[in-house]
Amino acid sequence: MKIPSVDFAIIGGSGTLSGNFPKNFTGVEILAENLFFETPYGKSPAFRLCAVGGKNFLTCKMHGWRSGVTRADSSRQIFWTFRAAGVKRILSEGGVGTVNHLLNPRDLMIPDDYLDLSTRKDVQLDGRYLLIMRDALCPELRGKLLTAAKMFFTGRIFERGIYAVTDGRHFESPAEISMLKGHADIVGQSLAPEVYLAREIGACYANLSFVVNYGEGLKVWSHEVMKNIFFDDAQLIGNILLDTIKNTPAEKSCDCLNLRKETLLKEIYDAE
Ligand SMILES: [Zn+2]
Repeated sequence: MKIPSVDFAIIGGSGTLSGNFPKNFTGVEILAENLFFETPYGKSPAFRLCAVGGKNFLTCKMHGWRSGVTRADSSRQIFWTFRAAGVKRILSEGGVGTVNHLLNPRDLMIPDDYLDLSTRKDVQLDGRYLLIMRDALCPELRGKLLTAAKMFFTGRIFERGIYAVTDGRHFESPAEISMLKGHADIVGQSLAPEVYLAREIGACYANLSFVVNYGEGLKVWSHEVMKNIFFDDAQLIGNILLDTIKNTPAEKSCDCLNLRKETLLKEIYDAE
């Protein structure tokens, strides 16, 4: 199967999982579905090729996570495919827990920085680049996400914040949340390694996070509320992402590409 050329991609998370995204969304055309690609890291998850506002994009569900495939390999399969497709702009979304005690379930956040506490440290495609993680969440793409979020959502939207990444699949302990306090605002499991891999392939990356639970030890949270958000908000999250693509040019006016430099360790990689 030939990988189609696209400028945009959406990595679906828990926000769009229940909505069969982007089927049944206004203005979206599904051009092809159940696209699987052979990658050096195994067969890719299923992609859909779609179009919105005259722009084609690839999308997959739930960060590509599948049972029997490590999350590291899922991420590598996705980003290897994106690189082959020539993807320039990537959006992701997902539910998160709170660390900052001012946040509540159903708040939206567009993080501008992250703290990687995951142990999946060596997830890369070929290591040929030195990745500078300044403005790792593209300021231009974040701005477009914010504009779209304001159009569809009347609740609280935080236009910056620090996303702490943990391994999961379990949530964090009260002691872990307590340790993160003052260092992060939200906690989740999907921003890394995606943020590194996006920089490695030279693509912009931004994330839309929505709070589904309080961090453990901050306040007791209800699984019922989490479930309701999961089912109720899929339309909202999907609309924000689609509108962002519609209003984002493929040509960048950000600095993302300049923050990826040829590695100075060339001898190591040339020998491979
Ligand atoms: Zn950018």
